[in-house]
Amino acid sequence: MTAARTTEDLKALAEQASEQLADATAEQALRWAVDQFGDDLIVASNMQDAVLIDLATKVKSDVDVLFLETGYHFAETLGTRDAVATVYPDIRIINASAEQTVAEQDAEYGPKLHDRDPNQCCFLRKVVPLRKTLANYSCWVTGVRRVDAPTRANTPIVTWDDRNGLVKVNPIAAWTDDEFNGYIDEHGILQNPLVGEGYLSIGCAPCTAKVAPGADPRSGRWAGKSKTECGLHA
Ligand code: SF4
Repeated sequence: MTAARTTEDLKALAEQASEQLADATAEQALRWAVDQFGDDLIVASNMQDAVLIDLATKVKSDVDVLFLETGYHFAETLGTRDAVATVYPDIRIINASAEQTVAEQDAEYGPKLHDRDPNQCCFLRKVVPLRKTLANYSCWVTGVRRVDAPTRANTPIVTWDDRNGLVKVNPIAAWTDDEFNGYIDEHGILQNPLVGEGYLSIGCAPCTAKVAPGADPRSGRWAGKSKTECGLHA
């Protein structure tokens, strides 16, 4: 559908939509994305929950879903991914992996690179696989919300992702925690069982800790490693 569109065309489209959809609902944003891009879009999920996937499949049941298979996930996260595939049988889950296995990375960089240089580890196991996968699409959809972190406070509904060179849609950017949790309760949405154990922001096992009651949900990510973002949404 969009094969003939140039990067400049896509960039102009994103800039125009950024204004037009500034106050769009999640459904309106997803409808716009599917109308514009059809099969040429992918929904990213870290398999903490299936909220975004549920919303997206209501608009396009066979949507592509991107999961960054870093090789460091909790078993519960992989289990959630597999459960999602069962609950939403029409979706196609793309497991994007790093070029090196964890063992190969250990051999080249030394063990536990995530402890010594988490930025390099995230670059190898998240940023590069993401970039390679997104190169096959004109639009990606994320579950980033403004309340996630101060660095995300100005997240637009639609924007141009200059680093990856495609349109980025954040349908639930404006959702509060109450709206998010209300959607889960109302629709019986799948959640990673670790959430119930106090892991309120789930990434790779070596870089994810439980969050103390009342603390910032993302405080459990890279705790003690002077890092707050994996670099996917910078
Ligand atoms: Fe490596 Fe940790 Fe980043 Fe996962 S979150 S890629 S283990 S540094």
